[in-house]
Amino acid sequence: MRKKIVAGNWKMNHDLAETEMFLVDLKKQVFPEHVITMIAPPFTSLNHAFKSLREHPVTLIAQNMHQSNNGAFTGEISAKMLKSVGADTVIVGHSERRAIFNEDSALLAEKVNTALENKMTVIFCIGEELQDRKQGNHFDLIKTQLSEGLFHVSNDSWENIIVAYEPVWAIGTGETASPGQAQEMHKLIRETIAENYSKAVADQVSILYGGSVKPDNAAEIFGQPDVDGGLIGGASLQVDNFMKIVNAFNK
Ligand code: PEP
Repeated sequence: MRKKIVAGNWKMNHDLAETEMFLVDLKKQVFPEHVITMIAPPFTSLNHAFKSLREHPVTLIAQNMHQSNNGAFTGEISAKMLKSVGADTVIVGHSERRAIFNEDSALLAEKVNTALENKMTVIFCIGEELQDRKQGNHFDLIKTQLSEGLFHVSNDSWENIIVAYEPVWAIGTGETASPGQAQEMHKLIRETIAENYSKAVADQVSILYGGSVKPDNAAEIFGQPDVDGGLIGGASLQVDNFMKIVNAFNK
């Protein structure tokens, strides 16, 4: 069944003391039962957040991981390490990893495999640049990102995959895709999964929208038939804003 999900991606924000302040506030909140609330703190805060949130319905996400299980990769973090500190879900393919850290589809496909082998859930991000959209290439590009990064996985693996459509031109810019643009792309993503797997698989995949989602635009975006929630950057850094977005599904 498609799940409703709101996931906060903190990126490189909030040290341990700031994480603690966030968590103190977060733990006072009432979480709607029909929405899965997730947060992706930096690696350095994961274990603290895991221990602190034990009694609360919040899923912990890692922002990245290495494609190998162990070895001489100074500075990197493995799936096993993430699981050992309480993160069973990982973001793969965020546009910042693709653009700034040159992560290409072949590498991302390896990360997907390693995460799935380690029984993690993958939030796989895809999204076009503004120039792709201006040139009318955005639908093809999204299909290519799906096929190169994800379409090698088995039917069963889709139970552990969440797709996040994040148009790069809308990330951190204050520019949001219109609800219609988001729906159009989410529908295409679902149809593409159905064509390559089955309607049954496509109908159970959660597809999140990301790109300048804020308390005042979340309800309209989440109200689109193929939008199952959001991956939230800037607006997830402060509990009040984040919870308004989590609760946008209630409206
Ligand atoms: C993101 O980085 O995944 C994101 C959607 O950021 P923002 O909400 O700040 O645009």
